[in-house]
Amino acid sequence: MKRVPLFDLHAQYLAIKPQIDEAIAAVIAESAFIRGRFVENFEKTYAADYGVKHCISCANGTDSIYIVLKQLGIGAGDEVITTANSWIASSETITQTGARVVFADTEDAYYTLDPAIVAARITPRTKAILAVHLLGQAADLHPLQSLCKMHGLHLIEDCAQAHYATYQGQRVGTFGTAATFSFYPGKNLGAYGDAGAIVTNDDELAARCRSFARHGSSPTDKHDHVMEGINSRMDGLQAAVLLAKLPHIREWTQARRRIAAAYDSALSGVEGIRLPATRSGCEHVWHVYSVRVAQAKAVQKKLVEAGIATTQHYPTPLPFLKAYQYLGSRPGDFPCAERHSREMLSLPIYPEMSEDTVSYVANHLEAAVREP
Ligand SMILES: *Cc1c(COP(=O)(O)O)cnc(C)c1O
Repeated sequence: MKRVPLFDLHAQYLAIKPQIDEAIAAVIAESAFIRGRFVENFEKTYAADYGVKHCISCANGTDSIYIVLKQLGIGAGDEVITTANSWIASSETITQTGARVVFADTEDAYYTLDPAIVAARITPRTKAILAVHLLGQAADLHPLQSLCKMHGLHLIEDCAQAHYATYQGQRVGTFGTAATFSFYPGKNLGAYGDAGAIVTNDDELAARCRSFARHGSSPTDKHDHVMEGINSRMDGLQAAVLLAKLPHIREWTQARRRIAAAYDSALSGVEGIRLPATRSGCEHVWHVYSVRVAQAKAVQKKLVEAGIATTQHYPTPLPFLKAYQYLGSRPGDFPCAERHSREMLSLPIYPEMSEDTVSYVANHLEAAVREP
């Protein structure tokens, strides 16, 4: 029996071991543990490579969302609309500012915010729409952009799962006021610990975020605090690892596309399995390859017996977590997200995955779905 993990960070390390070892040794040699030249270099390099004016590094992807919302002045009395299907970081950060989370259901085919439902949730208190590019695919950004323009709202993009994905030829993260990234180890671009970043073309917002993430320090004097802030710094080791990995992100994304295509061809036409759809004109970066089956949890159990790790994105829609009981959502309020939570099953995908392993997973999945 094979053992197939969801992703394989060790295989990736072995593929670039000399660069990673050298990068880590350089940070230690200079004791550049917190901020310093590696972090500054990463911020400059990522901004240039991503095609934005500013990259503000921080401690993790969750903080990157909180920092942006807070520095846009969002707080008590405000509402922010986000998706019913995401990781809780997308919504808990809204609450942390003092604002109220307003969940909206997703599109059946793409699992991202449904702009028509978002439109119906806008009130005079709404200040922003937080779009999550789930699984590696862009949310429907043009209609969301129009809604924001029409109602004077900020569009914020949570790009934690979608580094370098595109929407109608334009990179995600460049459509709104600001975008946030996670470099959690398992993300498409991952550090060796927690790390995150904000990107924006807004000079003033960039300066405020930079200061807030560093105890509200002034840019010229770290003992001059222009406001109270938080401690959310990227450390030098993470920056050095990210700098060593950045030159490979395009080839890794291509490899993910090849694996997704191999899954597509192995599983197409199999009764009882619905394959993931790619929005037309958009490039999916396949952070996750998720199929839909009638009974995801039962199929998942069978795959465990074949040594295959799978997961769900996500088993409970955000509005139905205990944390959001106070919002009083009822079954049927989020029909797509509710159905997806029962049906979606995320298969192993990582750039180093072999075609043989893809076939092994596809064959076992087909068998598991055939005899439930
Ligand atoms: C991973 C993730 C985050 C949070 O990132 P961390 O670095 O783990 O704090 C936020 N949003 C989404 C959609 C994520 O997948």
